[in-house]
Amino acid sequence: MRIRYFDHAATTPVREEVIEAMIPYFGKEYGNASVMYSLGRNARRAINKAREQVAEALNCSATEIYFTSCGSESDNLAIKGYAYENRDKGNHIITSKIEHHAALDACKTLEKQGFRVTYLNVDKDGNIDLEELKNSICDETILISIMYANNEIGTIEPIEEIGKIAKEKGIIFHSDAVQAIGNVKIDVQKSNIDMLSLSGHKFYAPKGVGALYVREGIRFAKLQDGGEQENNKRGGTENVAEIVGLGKAIELIYSEFDEYNDRLKMLRDYFLSEVQKNINGIKINGDLKNRLPGNANISFEGVDGSELLFKLDELGICASAGSACSTSNPAPSHVLTAIGLDSKYIDGTLRITFGRDNKKEDVNYLVNSLKEIINKIL
Ligand SMILES: *Cc1c(COP(=O)(O)O)cnc(C)c1O
Repeated sequence: MRIRYFDHAATTPVREEVIEAMIPYFGKEYGNASVMYSLGRNARRAINKAREQVAEALNCSATEIYFTSCGSESDNLAIKGYAYENRDKGNHIITSKIEHHAALDACKTLEKQGFRVTYLNVDKDGNIDLEELKNSICDETILISIMYANNEIGTIEPIEEIGKIAKEKGIIFHSDAVQAIGNVKIDVQKSNIDMLSLSGHKFYAPKGVGALYVREGIRFAKLQDGGEQENNKRGGTENVAEIVGLGKAIELIYSEFDEYNDRLKMLRDYFLSEVQKNINGIKINGDLKNRLPGNANISFEGVDGSELLFKLDELGICASAGSACSTSNPAPSHVLTAIGLDSKYIDGTLRITFGRDNKKEDVNYLVNSLKEIINKIL
């Protein structure tokens, strides 16, 4: 049976061009980037090229990019690393209730260590309230960490406004942009973003490589001791091949940015209109306007989400209930709870996220499958 993959917010397939770019670094280019002979210098050059490719995409300097092992590590390094290093300036951090667990739990850890954290509410579409943000700022506030776009409901937060507020108050602004890379044109200068997390496997690079942008001059603690890699901010021999893959993937996605995103939006809008035409009692979650182009999050009243996913899987369809990270966790999604979604909908929530290889006929297959399954269940 052909697999039809609609879970690109969980991970994406690695592109052929990215695999090709990586292969030499699994093979003959095996040098350690920290050594002086030519084999090592080749690895160093390859990493530096990837650093340029990421910097170009974000509109920052290559020296402001630190490679990590994943988006989660980038979030931890930004939030804990900044908090530990700048405790003398204050002990208050502001974030939101709908962050990814990497950011949310980093904040919870800091709370146990004596920091105070404000978790901002969101409205029914998942947007933070800028007034609540302003009112939460106090003399002790050192960091605002708000995600660029939400991984479950696709809502894009008012990043420029947050950046403006942070800058006015002299507070550092970190954004988890793991879902936004490749889908939103990010400009860390224009948006006043001081730190930004990203992860390769969400934009067609492999799993296990991420990056963190930190504006020049911002001090943050090294969380992983070891060698002096990554400007002495992250010990550990560099994952050269995957760093090369991440660089290649970000360059490729930017080279076809509008075409790619227009297609995702076309598929998503087509899916939503077809599903509304064909199935009764559905609710669309997340902001309809400020939203990732490839994200659809819908709830079916009275449907059990895990049963739905199981039946979709039998038909070769990969999708997600709420968030991939919580499929082993029976507690309702913290994001759907934060937007105040009625409990009669929460259980029957399905996240469909489109990607490069999806076709319109795949959407037809998906809608027909949903229709069939839901008519049987209800
Ligand atoms: C996937 C994701 C992460 C975690 O990235 P990993 O590379 O899987 O650790 C963090 N934040 C958001 C918003 C994500 O979607």
